[in-house]
Amino acid sequence: MEVEEKLIKKLGSGSLDFESYFSEKAMEMKASEIRELLKLVESSDVISLAGGLPAPETFPVETIKAITEEILKTHADKALQYGTTKGFTPLRLALAEWMEKRYGIPMSKVEIMMVAGSQQALDLIGRVFIDPGDIVVVEGPTYLAALNAFKYYDPEFLSIPMDDDGMIVDILEEKLKELKAEGKKVKFVYTVSTFQNPAGVTMSLKRRKRLIELAHEYDFLIVEDSPYSELRYSGKPIPPIKHFDDEGRVIYLGTFSKIFAPGFRLGWIAAHPHFIRKIEIAKQAVDLCANPFAQVIAWKYVADGHLDEHIPKIIEFYKPRRDAMFEALEEYMPEGVRWTKPDGGMFIWVTLPEGVDTKLMMEKAVAKGVAYVPGEAFFAYRDVKNTMRLNFTYVPEETIREGVKRLAEVIKEEIKALKG
Ligand SMILES: *Cc1c(COP(=O)(O)O)cnc(C)c1O
Repeated sequence: MEVEEKLIKKLGSGSLDFESYFSEKAMEMKASEIRELLKLVESSDVISLAGGLPAPETFPVETIKAITEEILKTHADKALQYGTTKGFTPLRLALAEWMEKRYGIPMSKVEIMMVAGSQQALDLIGRVFIDPGDIVVVEGPTYLAALNAFKYYDPEFLSIPMDDDGMIVDILEEKLKELKAEGKKVKFVYTVSTFQNPAGVTMSLKRRKRLIELAHEYDFLIVEDSPYSELRYSGKPIPPIKHFDDEGRVIYLGTFSKIFAPGFRLGWIAAHPHFIRKIEIAKQAVDLCANPFAQVIAWKYVADGHLDEHIPKIIEFYKPRRDAMFEALEEYMPEGVRWTKPDGGMFIWVTLPEGVDTKLMMEKAVAKGVAYVPGEAFFAYRDVKNTMRLNFTYVPEETIREGVKRLAEVIKEEIKALKG
């Protein structure tokens, strides 16, 4: 039990009817059940393939130390003062330059705004674009924290299935036609286009181009959330959807969380200035500005070339872990189990035979000493039960092998029980 809950219990109910003060919106909020599940895992000697955290070994501690000392000498006035809502301009410029160089997104076409992690961008996008009942397209499965951020604004989710090439854009097109016939349209499509969380897959070039065409044809926006695109271990880079955006329909989200340190809580939005202007007003009411201290450090980190030097080191650290998981899955998993083969990112998505419920199976897995994230919660309508997300970045290769081996045992028994 969490400290907080223990304290609530100890204090007793007293005279206040605490629940009665909450807003209707607050009453709808629920703690993430995944977090609850994972609490089980933390204390024991269970191998957790459930995590979603970058490996702390990849944090550039020494560089951060040196930069911090330097900026406290030279930029303390900026770093310790309130900043503008849009963010520290030298950092915004450095990122614009970086995105032009890496992704071919012309600096002249986008405005960059700093946020407290992409998570804040997701919430701000909800505030600025979603009216109750608006149709928001998501991938099935999609990023759980995006579902939770958008949900507050009461959209209607339309979940589009994926294959190895990402969102099946043909299915989206069919749905768009149907909606049009009913006089309805989509507000925006949310996609984690590269090395998706949770599925690990990447939207193909062809589908990216088609999606942009459809956005034009059916008049919707695209929110491209891309925290993993730099973490590529094999294959050739594909330009972001934003690269093909001539009209300003794509709102691109970047973050320092997976290529630097999530503790900085720093991300950015790259979008048409017209959209940025409104998002800026929304952010002002939320927290005035993103952490200036973090922004000034991040500026030095990007502008002095540390980021470009650091990314290959992260890749070198994660690639053997991904390969170890591939090998272990190949070696241990029984017939009927399928998994994605990501060229990058942090996750592999596993699909078990129809009939297996990975949420129910979790207790048995933990008893055998391994944990994963059941896939159900990643679907807007929780209608798929036989999938799971595995993380390969947090634990070392040997542990990954042992974890997958244990997991395969549990799955074999489950399949046997299903047949018997
Ligand atoms: C990790 C992750 C992020 C990053 O969120 P921050 O708030 O920037 O830490 C965003 N989107 C997805 C899909 C992620 O997996």
